[in-house]
Amino acid sequence: MLSQLRITEIFHSLQGEARSAGLPTVFVRLTGCPLRCQYCDTEYAFSGGAMMSFDSILESVGGFDCKTICVTGGEPLAQVACNDLLNVLCDAGFDVSLETSGAMSIEDTPTTVSRVVDIKTPDSKESHRNLWSNVALLTPNDQVKFVICSREDYEWARFKLDEYALVSRVSDVLFSPSHHDIAASDLADWIVADRLPVRFQMQLHKILWNDEPGR
Ligand code: SF4
Repeated sequence: MLSQLRITEIFHSLQGEARSAGLPTVFVRLTGCPLRCQYCDTEYAFSGGAMMSFDSILESVGGFDCKTICVTGGEPLAQVACNDLLNVLCDAGFDVSLETSGAMSIEDTPTTVSRVVDIKTPDSKESHRNLWSNVALLTPNDQVKFVICSREDYEWARFKLDEYALVSRVSDVLFSPSHHDIAASDLADWIVADRLPVRFQMQLHKILWNDEPGR
């Protein structure tokens, strides 16, 4: 087992999104991503970082007196040892979630981890990277996230909701407005008007801290 990973940052904050939004959480941000979504807000994680052993990662996350961990990126699954780290964190008793782009297979990712799997919309400019075989691997412990950039994206996401019966597969389907592309209230109004059974969300860390790294 490879027991080290390239890490951009480890920090303690509030979870900004998904069903655990608002909960104190330790974030482990892995370096690197093969995608280039037009709205990416973590470009600083594309390169750099530092190699850390699993022991030093465990020591670091253990110092925050917080049992909730989110492994994120970049695209964490782009590093082959990521699944090993997820198993180590679960075995150590942490409540673990994983944020992933949806472009990498979740087949070997432990199902004790809540996997938050993006489905990239056309206006992300990376929808051709969606790995649709992941849908069959989703469990009720997982979540699916669409970042919506336009009305066209919204209609596309509605279609995919039905085509893949996503609401019945996961605990939450998340619809999030792309920060610079649409008004959050427009997306909220569309969801209400169409009675869509999805969870609207806004990224708390952007509202609270204007998206500063490490917050
Ligand atoms: S998958 Fe995530 S980290 Fe990678 S480019 Fe897209 S938004 Fe950025």
